[in-house]
Amino acid sequence: MLTYDYPNIFQRFEVMDRELKDHRILIVDDALENVEILGSILSDYKRSVALSGEKALEIAAGPNRPDLVLLDVMMPGMDGFTVCSKLKSNPGTKDIPVIFVTSMKEVSEKVKGFSLGAVDYITKPYQVEEIRSRIKTHLTISALRNKLTTLNHELEKKVKDRTEELLIAKNQAEESSRVKSHFLALMSHELRTPMAGILGFSDFLLEELKDEESRELVKMINDSGRRLKSTLDSILNFSQIESQKIKANYSDFEIISKSKSLLEYHELNAKLKGLELSFGSESEQLAVRLDEVMYEIIFNNLVSNAIKYTNEGNVRVEIKSGKAGKENVTSLIVSDTGIGIPPEKQEAIFEEFRQVDEGLRRNFEGVGLGLSLVKKYVELMGGQITVSSKVKEGSVFTIKFSDAQQPKSKINSVTGIKEGGTIYGARAGQYPSRDARILLVEDDYTNIKIAQLYLKDVAILDVAKNSDEALDLAKKTLYSAILMDINLGKGMSGLELTKILRKDNKYSNVPIVAYTAFALDGDRENFIEEGCTHYLPKPCSRDELISLLAEVI
Ligand code: ADP
Repeated sequence: MLTYDYPNIFQRFEVMDRELKDHRILIVDDALENVEILGSILSDYKRSVALSGEKALEIAAGPNRPDLVLLDVMMPGMDGFTVCSKLKSNPGTKDIPVIFVTSMKEVSEKVKGFSLGAVDYITKPYQVEEIRSRIKTHLTISALRNKLTTLNHELEKKVKDRTEELLIAKNQAEESSRVKSHFLALMSHELRTPMAGILGFSDFLLEELKDEESRELVKMINDSGRRLKSTLDSILNFSQIESQKIKANYSDFEIISKSKSLLEYHELNAKLKGLELSFGSESEQLAVRLDEVMYEIIFNNLVSNAIKYTNEGNVRVEIKSGKAGKENVTSLIVSDTGIGIPPEKQEAIFEEFRQVDEGLRRNFEGVGLGLSLVKKYVELMGGQITVSSKVKEGSVFTIKFSDAQQPKSKINSVTGIKEGGTIYGARAGQYPSRDARILLVEDDYTNIKIAQLYLKDVAILDVAKNSDEALDLAKKTLYSAILMDINLGKGMSGLELTKILRKDNKYSNVPIVAYTAFALDGDRENFIEEGCTHYLPKPCSRDELISLLAEVI
């Protein structure tokens, strides 16, 4: 509701009435008797008198500035019209209302007066009440206009001050968002790099070691590393959503083969718990347009939750497509025969850090960010997520994406890979040709060691520890592919090096994989834009690296 300084407009006028007495009126007339008559009619006000146009201008611009001028038209020397136009052209006097006093009744003269800026006319002989009432009206209007102008100035100043404050606040917010993003990128990179070592070497040892006891110990290191990595991924992804507006980066892909290959990574965990893991879809192929990375995160979170919260029975993933009204709807359904979720918790589980089992007695590991991230990503892509669940019977998570996700480009039916686009996505079990020569540009000793172990017996690997070495090697040999770390420590970055290589005709089409611990939203797009053809975030498994190279070469 609006509130006013004055309870009502009438009270405001009363106040003005009292103030009017303090107003000053300048009477301009060459005839003394007229001055006297007008002076006595307006005895309630303060008055000044000018017997000529020149004097009137002097008084109006002086210290006793009048609030209104009564101006005779016919005067010897400077006439009333000239005085009026001079008053109106001076910024100091232009707002003083002018009323002409005349015996002329001709319309043309009145029109001339108004066009010069007069507010009214008084004609001789004088009508006392009429003059008083007109003067009062014009003084009131003028006072209100002045008040309005003052209020307007105050308002403008307030708006200006507030805008400045908001601008400062906006700059501060942008600065802290920039600092936060920088911190996230740094954290991501610094935590992922050593984790690549832990996961990479333990992966390799798991393959090499034959002794069961040692294998079990190494498996524990590997599992702990994976758990740490998935917690880190959730926290970083989530903080990133919170700190800035993330947009879905749509691309076309084939969702059935994609889902099947994602499911392969969960097979071992399901097997270890004795669970049956199955996949179903009505068709062999289904092209969709979604953010592929977000889809992977959604899929992996739902399936790993289903396995985590199921002790016996099965976990099933289904992809369906059908019509809902006029819209085509693609659904991802993940169901399990697990512990279930009580009805009163079915909403809270989508909130960050909320779990069914909270407090010290909780039975399952996890930080409670997975489902809130899933929900945010689903909604970012215009989809919906629902859950139906019964305690001790199991849960069904359903995600629906509608028409907006219709693919724009044709999907290659043999490879499931977008035509003319970036090839991405590991296809397990494929190997690059053994004599393929690959250049790894990497400054971190641990990462070099891991890549050498991963690609032992798979391809010939040359290593450059900085951009100069890389350029030297690239000149001598034409590599089948380059694995490019982005942060190369001193000297050029991986992206600068990529740009230089791309200028060389020999390397204009050679696959360059951004192989990096920079793994926040938007990083992949940035690397591809700068000239890389593929992107593989560290830490990655041996399978992921090998199958990506198999696709690339
Ligand atoms: P986290 O698994 O790390 O705790 P989530 O956000 O993924 O975090 O899940 C939140 C909570 O929802 C879990 O702690 C669990 O209580 C419940 N929940 C999620 N998925 C299932 C499921 N398939 N069956 C039973 N409970 C589940």
